[in-house]
Amino acid sequence: MRTVDAYAATSATEPLIKTTIERRDVGAKDVRIDIAYAGICHSDIHTVKEEWGQVTYPLVVGHEIVGVVAEVGSEVTKHAVGDRVGVGCMVNSCRKCENCLAGEENYCLEGNVGTYGAVDRDGTITQGGYSTEVVVDEDFVLRVPESIPYEAAAPLLCAGITTYSPLHHWNVGEGTKVAVVGMGGLGHMAVKIAVAMGAEVTVLSQTLAKQDDSLRYGAKAHFATKDEATFETLARTFDVIINTVSAKLPIDAYLGLLRRNGSLVNVGAPAEPLSLNVFNLLGGRRSFSGSMIGGIRETQEMLDFCAEHGIAPEIELIEAARVNEAYERVLSSDVRYRFVIDAATI
Ligand SMILES: [Zn+2]
Ligand SMILES: [Zn+2]
Repeated sequence: MRTVDAYAATSATEPLIKTTIERRDVGAKDVRIDIAYAGICHSDIHTVKEEWGQVTYPLVVGHEIVGVVAEVGSEVTKHAVGDRVGVGCMVNSCRKCENCLAGEENYCLEGNVGTYGAVDRDGTITQGGYSTEVVVDEDFVLRVPESIPYEAAAPLLCAGITTYSPLHHWNVGEGTKVAVVGMGGLGHMAVKIAVAMGAEVTVLSQTLAKQDDSLRYGAKAHFATKDEATFETLARTFDVIINTVSAKLPIDAYLGLLRRNGSLVNVGAPAEPLSLNVFNLLGGRRSFSGSMIGGIRETQEMLDFCAEHGIAPEIELIEAARVNEAYERVLSSDVRYRFVIDAATI
């Protein structure tokens, strides 16, 4: 075991504090990573506040991790000391169910092992990336191409794959009309990736405040959803709508924006059930669906795609001591567009 520095939550209501945690010894198939940067995802905040279920404290969150391989186990073949690597939202899965065998470990029928707060296959509780080191099975470690700016790479491991996977699955490409609902950490990545895939992208945000950013990232248009006229102007326009918002939206209004065969895909997770009028699906053979992160193979594909197309998240790099302040700012939507912790300051 190695004792390493970390920032941990000790209860649902207290600020995160600097502490130490234990990392397991490097097993035959393990990779030990010196963490360089860790992104702050809204899920981290939901989790530490116990909004998504009971938590065993202390808990270190963070599932957008990049760093350098410091040590490898005797049977590791995929990674070598010195490689730039990443770890996303999961660190293990059953590897035997049909979804794991299909390379979609994110949908493991036994539940994938989350990067933090989950019971790992050795019985320990996983601890995430707001830390100086992590030990992960090599199969759940990604290669991070050197051409992606180092400090900006981390958010690709959650925000990047969460938006890439549905865009890829719903065959977004040249000429596809895509709308992105919500211009935040997920939304701005959805815009950049869909644009790089060749789609014509429109941003649907509450206001016009982020219009300049939308256009700068390649969107063709930006509309305010506060303006009722938006839903008339854009009726039956889109092939795919990626909804990144976790607040309760009027689903029927958004279904009305889909063309024939169009899909409204949720990647945000509202706490309350949503309702919709099925007639809005029947007319135009529309779909209402969801998507959750992506498998390891697809995550690697996303990283390579972002490297090839020169895409990276917009980030604000912070010292670890500012993590609680950063949480407040995420909650008030005051970040463009992702906070990343410099692990050297932990
Ligand atoms: Zn996340
Ligand atoms: Zn499985």
